[in-house]
Amino acid sequence: MTLPSRKGGIYITQPTLPPMAEFIPYLEKIWDSKWLTNCGPFHQQFEQALCEHLGVERLALFTNGTLALVTALQALRISGEVITTPYSFVATAHSLLWNGIKPVFVDIDPQTLNLDPDKIEAAITPQTTAIMPVHCYGHPCAVDRIQRIADNYGLRVIYDAAHAFGVEDEGGSVLRHGDLSILSFHATKVFNTFEGGAIVCPDKKTKERIDHLKNFGFVDEVTVVAPGINGKMSEFNAALGMLQLKGIDAAIQKRKLIDARYREGLSDTKGIYMLSSVTEKVANYAYFPILVRPDYTLSRDALFQKLQQNGIFARRYFFPLISDFPMYRGLPSAASANLPEATQVAREVICLPIYPDLPDEQVDLVVNLIRG
Ligand SMILES: *Cc1c(COP(=O)(O)O)cnc(C)c1O
Repeated sequence: MTLPSRKGGIYITQPTLPPMAEFIPYLEKIWDSKWLTNCGPFHQQFEQALCEHLGVERLALFTNGTLALVTALQALRISGEVITTPYSFVATAHSLLWNGIKPVFVDIDPQTLNLDPDKIEAAITPQTTAIMPVHCYGHPCAVDRIQRIADNYGLRVIYDAAHAFGVEDEGGSVLRHGDLSILSFHATKVFNTFEGGAIVCPDKKTKERIDHLKNFGFVDEVTVVAPGINGKMSEFNAALGMLQLKGIDAAIQKRKLIDARYREGLSDTKGIYMLSSVTEKVANYAYFPILVRPDYTLSRDALFQKLQQNGIFARRYFFPLISDFPMYRGLPSAASANLPEATQVAREVICLPIYPDLPDEQVDLVVNLIRG
């Protein structure tokens, strides 16, 4: 049997995998126990191990990050309008539509590319119930200012922390902020279980509710307390997660070296702007975005094509903006006049390849192509 494989070239990311032989003993345990899902031993172990690794009190594992987002909104019974960013992966806003919630887009801060705290208050209406910011590219949001606004107006805060695995600020994990934070362990993310996700929850009661919601609302054999969904992570993914955790620190360390190599290589290239990573104490180097400004020799799209012609498959994350997709663009807050910074950044951004096994020569090749 032959399966299709990805064509040659350097992609924005390549999934981080442990040596296959090391996974076999885990699979044998699953085959022996015949416990495949429904909160089995690997699920329990992995929840515990992740809490310890991330430095958080509690979390609930999920099949993927999107179901974690959808369930987080259900868990807190969020309704009406939610303030969010247009500069993210489309799942952020989709999770609101899946809950019958109206997204209200607020512009980003051009320095951090995160929701601009100065613009949040003007978007609050009597229907607003929550704020859903994204720690874009793993750089922490203005968490204190967002919390102050939320407290003043009685709003909940749910962080889409899909990019922020392992990121820390001065006080510890960024995942401790807000009412809930969600993670994604998709193949393309810093830490992957093929597919997977989690909700970080501060209190025991909310964790219980989330655990019920991800299992159809079952509390026991005969009791269903809520219209839950099937969001449970399988034993296969949880076992893989246990193994992946062993390699994650080394993988992030390798990313850090690549990040530094790009920064050094591109530091004096006119018209190429790089984000600073001073906002976090511990970074995860999940992405390497550059902004291609008008004083660069080529347009953003011309550079993007030049890279492609040389086998470098970078990505224009996040272009188009979420607010430009057909199911959102009719909203009053989706107008580009309301989102000038996000609109500009979406026109300028390219995310360069970054993954632990990316060889130095290939980083240098990308740098040289950009330097022209
Ligand atoms: C990847 C991602 C998601 C969705 O996670 P999945 O695990 O792929 O469902 C949500 N939000 C952001 C910002 C993401 O990057």
